Amino acid sequence: MKNTIFVLFVISVFFGCKPKAESQSSHSETPIAMDEGTLKKIDIHVHFKYSREYLPALFKKWNMQGVLVDVYREDPNGIVRSWDNYLTHAQTYPKMFSLCSAIIGVGIDEPDYAKKTIEQLSQEIDSGARMVKVWKNFGMVTKDASGKYIQIDDPRLQPIWDFLKSKQIPVLAHIAEPLQAWRKLDPKSPHYGYYMGHPQYHAYNFPEIPSYETIISARDNWIQKNPNLKILGAHMGSMSHNVDMVAERLDKFPNMYVETAARFGDLASQDSDEVKAFLTKYQDRVFFGTDYGNSIPQSSIENAQLKEEQRLLDTNYRLLWNYLSGTDSLEIRGQKTRGLGLPIDILKKVYYQNAVNFLKLK
Ligand SMILES: [Zn+2]
Repeated sequence: MKNTIFVLFVISVFFGCKPKAESQSSHSETPIAMDEGTLKKIDIHVHFKYSREYLPALFKKWNMQGVLVDVYREDPNGIVRSWDNYLTHAQTYPKMFSLCSAIIGVGIDEPDYAKKTIEQLSQEIDSGARMVKVWKNFGMVTKDASGKYIQIDDPRLQPIWDFLKSKQIPVLAHIAEPLQAWRKLDPKSPHYGYYMGHPQYHAYNFPEIPSYETIISARDNWIQKNPNLKILGAHMGSMSHNVDMVAERLDKFPNMYVETAARFGDLASQDSDEVKAFLTKYQDRVFFGTDYGNSIPQSSIENAQLKEEQRLLDTNYRLLWNYLSGTDSLEIRGQKTRGLGLPIDILKKVYYQNAVNFLKLK
């Protein structure tokens, strides 16, 4: 049964990132005197490509809004993006969703690459995009005409960053992968399931992919060279295995922020007191995000599967709420831990206010 639930959810979510069952909390009650629906929330990283009948009520129950994040990706199956789906979904539920556009490095050698990319972004910002995503194809997948992997600090991308600065639009940067991608697969790792399902991103098996250090260092160089560009490091800035490493970058780069999507398992694998101290110190720089989403239309799903998808989404939001707000023992992606018991003032910022300020939602 457990396997069936896992498979049902995995096939119903966006497969390029990695939302899935986070696992179960041993206690479902919320230890602090606040109902989960009282606190306003923004999930800054979701991929609800298609609408669901249950979603408006579920988001209302959680007092949640979401940022629909497009992924413009190049993988072994070709170039794909989902902007039109997200635009339609956001236009149908404008109070529920905001939009994040995306760019890709394919064609970077063409003389009008930057101009065309800026035209695309300009149009999508006019349609409501409040942020632009760069994905791990920068650094790990896409090569230029000379056969070199395009790193995110490539000077040919600079006109795009200058344009985004002029528009005051931030970048959501999923650059590199968790460090474990460059290591032999460990069944105890919170990322075991993802790399089993997406072996093409398990860099350990592809020595030609640049090292973790090379990609992170290009990312850092890009952030440093663009102090007026706000950069939100997706997935804890691909440094989720160690909050000290994240803290070091946040200290160094005032224009850098991070969000938690699909990395609660990594946080849970670290000492709760240390994670709490990190979130306390950087309470203005960390955003709640999950990577939850779907990849097939509701019309293609059986009723029972739809119900299960809804139940899992609700269960997962509750588990993360219990981790952040509570102090009970719980398990996230196989990592046993206890809740962080963050005070209400910090929860308000991480769940909501930081994203409102960053995306100028009000
Ligand atoms: Zn994602």
